[in-house]
Amino acid sequence: MNLDKLVVNGEEPGPHLLITAGVHGDEYEPMETVRRVFKIVEAVQSKLKGTLTLVPVVNQPAFKLAERTGADKLDLARICPGKEEGSESEQIAYAVSTLIKTADYYIDMHNGGRYHNIFPFSGYVLHSDESVLESQRQLAKAFLLPIIWGTDPGLQGRTLSVARDANIPAIYTEIGGAGIYQESNTVLAVEGCINVLKFLGMLPGKAKDSNISYHLEDHRKESGHLQRLLPSPTDGFYMPVVSFGQEVKEGEIIGYVQDVLGQSRTPIKADQSGIIFILRSVASVQKGDALGAILPVRQNNKLQSIYE
Ligand SMILES: [Zn+2]
Repeated sequence: MNLDKLVVNGEEPGPHLLITAGVHGDEYEPMETVRRVFKIVEAVQSKLKGTLTLVPVVNQPAFKLAERTGADKLDLARICPGKEEGSESEQIAYAVSTLIKTADYYIDMHNGGRYHNIFPFSGYVLHSDESVLESQRQLAKAFLLPIIWGTDPGLQGRTLSVARDANIPAIYTEIGGAGIYQESNTVLAVEGCINVLKFLGMLPGKAKDSNISYHLEDHRKESGHLQRLLPSPTDGFYMPVVSFGQEVKEGEIIGYVQDVLGQSRTPIKADQSGIIFILRSVASVQKGDALGAILPVRQNNKLQSIYE
């Protein structure tokens, strides 16, 4: 299995940066971001130091189906490092994992897919190696998104787990989603990628300083597992009553799940205080579906750490 990729080789030595998109097939702006970053960097190839490798759509079978996963239903963000002789998704996981191990730095771009919309943030794992962790903090800042979230390093099967085990500084980004293409999200992500290239000294020019609103490091187990946040208590029709970035207090009603006739309305309450950073974008829900998530931040512009 070979991944379709775009590579720009600089004329001077420098690091190897890998940027991937489309690990999930229904996350569109990252795919366009990667294609656009290629065109921008290719046009100034003589000024590039090092190597830039770009994969616009890691999971092409899933993209063709307009689904998160391919026909075998295996989530690429759960089965890395994959299997060379496995199912289609396992082979893709193997190919992307092998590629990650060749990089010096790695960015994996995502969004909320068809079912969720995500307030822009950069994330990384709370790596046990302090120098890798610090590089990841710097990369996350250089991507210029308003929220930075460091989470449980123990989650397995991710592209970031492969980078973690190889001590390669890596971040992931989440911007928007809802299964639609939004140009403004692409613009944001392109700016982030180019700024990281400048930050790493791969492109000339001074990197912009980040203007982050919140920087949280959450050391609690399974922090960062997006699908498990705020599960719906029942089947029904979900209506959020909050908007992105809004501050909420624990216990505050953030939406309702109602039945078909509107006779029963189950309030959904904030499970913690913080800001709304993920919202479900599809009204039809089944019991257990993730309705959204709150980032438990309490202070602006400062690194805040949460422990068990
Ligand atoms: Zn994703």
